[in-house]
Amino acid sequence: MSGAIDVARLRDPRLHPIADKVMASERLTPDEGVALYSTTDLLGLGTLTDFANRRRNGDRVFFSANQHINPTNVCVLRNTCVFCSFARMPKEDGAYTRSLDEVFHEAEQARGTPTREFHIVGGLHPKLRLGYYTDLIRGLKERHPQVHIKALTAVEIAHLARIEKTSEREVLLAMKDAGLTSLPGGGAEVFSSAVRATIAERKLTGEEWLRVHRVAHELGIPTNCTMLYGHVETAEDRIAHLEQLRALQDDTGGFLTYIPLAYHPDHNELGEEMGRVGTATTGYEDLKNIAVGRLFLDNIPHVKTHWPMVTPFLSQIALDFGCDDVEGTVVYERIYHEAGALTDMHLPYLELVRLIRGAGKRPVERDSLYRAVREQFDDPPPEPSFRRGGALPVVHAA
Ligand code: SF4
Repeated sequence: MSGAIDVARLRDPRLHPIADKVMASERLTPDEGVALYSTTDLLGLGTLTDFANRRRNGDRVFFSANQHINPTNVCVLRNTCVFCSFARMPKEDGAYTRSLDEVFHEAEQARGTPTREFHIVGGLHPKLRLGYYTDLIRGLKERHPQVHIKALTAVEIAHLARIEKTSEREVLLAMKDAGLTSLPGGGAEVFSSAVRATIAERKLTGEEWLRVHRVAHELGIPTNCTMLYGHVETAEDRIAHLEQLRALQDDTGGFLTYIPLAYHPDHNELGEEMGRVGTATTGYEDLKNIAVGRLFLDNIPHVKTHWPMVTPFLSQIALDFGCDDVEGTVVYERIYHEAGALTDMHLPYLELVRLIRGAGKRPVERDSLYRAVREQFDDPPPEPSFRRGGALPVVHAA
């Protein structure tokens, strides 16, 4: 890494004082965050961000051998989260809920492969109780003791607390006792109450989402955080969202990674209203959101690019815009593919290595806690027996 940013080469003069602050490791203000969103000097923004990322991570880029599992798409908020294409009402076409045995069967994909993480999220099912999820976590840990369990968004935790008539703390404690490693960062969307009133009026509020993560951090459960961008939010809404994540991280230090998520408009009410299909964001916006996240969230160790949403190729470029982490092998991705994502559902392990090396970076396979587990790739590990582009496994109706 060169020791300084060549400020004179930044085309947008508003970036000059920000570059000085980045070099001095000084915290950016909300106004500076909004200025970053409004710049058209994308390469200048990338220069700042790459500097900040290299200072932290050098040329290392993390990835994980993971498998996504979605036990149910039945969700009581199906008709009010207008950006969601995944959820179904219990009797609706396409609704499914898996038995524990079906989940365990799907997880057998991981056997004999390097898989180290199950990423488990789903809908807010009106009848699946806490015991289903603790049995699921326990069963997976018994069958795959080397695999970490990253499970249930803050929204799902709060839903379970509600139907169990208990606290979110008790739900988290029960899940931790069953073998939970960490929480994913979904459900945050954008914290602004005005935005939520438009896109997710009955979902957990921003304050409630932050409260669940605070409690998780207090219990020693690390979590991820996200922001869904590219719908009705403004640059100011985005920065206010990032500010709240940064403030919680100042207090707890419990966030592992920040993942900006690009809204996809297919098969959802919001997309119909916007008259958009396929993709709602551009590569330019995707890179900007990654870069601003890296610069503004100066206290969150990692920033991840989610290749199922922005494509593996843009994710590769994102490695020069502040990302030090790439979403993993995934195996079955339903949530964004229901919303029109055109990417494959699975990225083979060695393709991730190739992608990272192709960007001139050093791949590091990690576990859920960002501990390095493999840095040499001469002896390739086995892949899950997944047919590329293959159909989703059969599931029972809800
Ligand atoms: S976004 Fe989550 S909570 Fe909202 S409808 Fe979809 S699955 Fe349910």
